[in-house]
Amino acid sequence: MINNKLLINGNLVDGHRTADVINPALGTSFATVGLASESQAEAAVAAAKAAFPAWAATPLAERRAAVSRYADAIRDNAETLASTLTQEQGKPLAEAAAEVMYTEIFMRYFAQAGFEPELIQDDENYRIEMIHKPLGPVVGITPWNLPLLIGANKIGPAVVTGNTVVLKPAPTTPLTSLMLGTLAQNIFPPGVVNVITDANDLGWLLSNHPDVAKITFTGSTATGKKVAHSAADSLKRLTLELGGNDAGIVLDDVNVDDVAAKILAGSFMNAGQVCIALKRLYVPANKYDEMCDALAGLAQQTKVGNGLDEGTQMGPLQNPMQLEKAKGYLEAANRDGRVMTGGKIREGKGYFVEPTIVRDISDGSALVDEEQFAPILPIIKYDKVDEVIERANKSIYGLGGSVWSPDIDRAKNIAARIETGTAWINHHLHFSPNVPFCGAKESGVGVEFSREGLAEFTQRSVISISKQ
Ligand code: ADP
Repeated sequence: MINNKLLINGNLVDGHRTADVINPALGTSFATVGLASESQAEAAVAAAKAAFPAWAATPLAERRAAVSRYADAIRDNAETLASTLTQEQGKPLAEAAAEVMYTEIFMRYFAQAGFEPELIQDDENYRIEMIHKPLGPVVGITPWNLPLLIGANKIGPAVVTGNTVVLKPAPTTPLTSLMLGTLAQNIFPPGVVNVITDANDLGWLLSNHPDVAKITFTGSTATGKKVAHSAADSLKRLTLELGGNDAGIVLDDVNVDDVAAKILAGSFMNAGQVCIALKRLYVPANKYDEMCDALAGLAQQTKVGNGLDEGTQMGPLQNPMQLEKAKGYLEAANRDGRVMTGGKIREGKGYFVEPTIVRDISDGSALVDEEQFAPILPIIKYDKVDEVIERANKSIYGLGGSVWSPDIDRAKNIAARIETGTAWINHHLHFSPNVPFCGAKESGVGVEFSREGLAEFTQRSVISISKQ
């Protein structure tokens, strides 16, 4: 069921032209996709606008039931979704299957979400209630690292709260989003869910559009700032989930064998292309050599290859632009530190970077200070805990961070001082639909998931009744 058609107003339609979809493990095209024209983007917004009043008036129970059927459809098409995801994105099939499974799990959460009227006050003077009204057409703009999960996480919260939606994936990973469109076609009324693709040329039109009430964007901080500018003119509601440079802080009482594999998984999942990946690791002098050796040993054993091949643990980077950026970070690794394993891109087809562990590197190197979005982990030595917290916080980003120690009270004290939306203890990268997910500083605006995240898809509206 690989579909390359757009979903506009309930119809699956061809784009105005086609583009190749490249398999990053091979560097060659494996499918073509239709690209929307500006008038098709306009039509998608118009459809979302036209469908809004009836969908907003649909009882919550019916909207929930539709979202529940959508979760069923995702489950029923799990295999095709996973293999398409591996081919367009590059991640190993097991990781792709996990992304599909989480997509279903998140959708099941959204299927029981949404808001009933809330009683705020009821006394002899006033009865005050608050209701959550939907906003209108929502635009979801997504990146290429977890296109299915992130795409579904724009659609689910929008529609269960009574909004309509136009989803636009990143140009290099359009197919799983178009499949989300296909699956939506027979579940939601025409215009409630629309999915269009572009060649990186329609995000601006969508985020400037006067008929769009809210933008929910996941992507780089640089593009997020452009979206915020676009939204300013009409004061659109905005949720931004942007870049990160998560620090992992290992404490001096850690047992390296207990944590090394978890640290590597938190760093190299999806070949390091995750906003909340562990991107720089701070280790005290007494554990430094042991930790560096353990991580280098594990990284060396990682089986890198085509995600469709049995046993592959790490796939390629998603696109050539990302590979170019990784080359720069490999240069920084070789120049500013000591590469223990990896350190090169793989010659031949595909966009592969060898899993790379770098020691004897410090803050001030681009590999430490910037978001590498590649499997290249710098390990930095530190002396004092106070100083390392300051270094972890010295970043424009504030998405996540982790503390590693068997002493939970001590770790909690440190976690509370990390200036991020999430601080994990003895793990990294966990997120879940019932847990608020947000970025501090330039890592984002607003909250996703949980009741708080869902509320961002609504206008809170107070009804105040006088009893005098
Ligand atoms: P990357 O992670 O490759 O840097 P970006 O943050 O640039 O990704 O892109 C994330 C998403 O934002 C993509 O779907 C992209 O097409 C879209 N986009 C790019 N430029 C704009 C813009 N000016 N306004 C809105 N969306 C944009």
